[in-house]
Amino acid sequence: MFLHELSRAISKDWVLRVDQEQYGELVRQYFSNRCPYCLIDLTNSTAIVEHLDGMNRYRAGLHVVGNVLVACRKCNSEKRRDDSLKALTLASSGWASFLSHDGMACASGCKTCRYWESVWVDPGERKKKLTENLQRIIQFRAIFPEFQLALPTLAQALPISLTKLYSDCQIFAETEIKTLLLNFIAASENQS
Ligand SMILES: [Zn+2]
Ligand SMILES: [Zn+2]
Repeated sequence: MFLHELSRAISKDWVLRVDQEQYGELVRQYFSNRCPYCLIDLTNSTAIVEHLDGMNRYRAGLHVVGNVLVACRKCNSEKRRDDSLKALTLASSGWASFLSHDGMACASGCKTCRYWESVWVDPGERKKKLTENLQRIIQFRAIFPEFQLALPTLAQALPISLTKLYSDCQIFAETEIKTLLLNFIAASENQS
């Protein structure tokens, strides 16, 4: 909710906006209408709106050009494992981390490494595709100068602000619940 509001506020004067048809076309053209992660043709499979930096408190991604694209449903759900980690070890962003599971750095039970093994069986091809796809996304993001300009500040400040917001909300909710509870107890005691 907060991230959606922030997305609107930040990008309101940008040349290209995420809700413009032109942006959707640009994304499909850039990735040849394929999933940017596994390269499956999206003409015949379910395409889903994907946020490179996930819209949660750890990844603090925004709904803006450069962060929104279309991916296949499978990758979108497989990527959530990296997105939900508080601290990443393979890369500095969730999407780069997702594309870094080449079977070399993780424990043998890693589900994402297994996933990529199922997509590209040959280890050499797998490594090559993952690297190429990572580079393609980096180049794609470079098309949007306004996004590039805002990104470092956001990446640094947002997770801290969001963590504070979550904790403030929780403290607020707990205090409110406690007050409500006390009021109810007092009211019921007055009645009896
Ligand atoms: Zn995919
Ligand atoms: Zn892995």
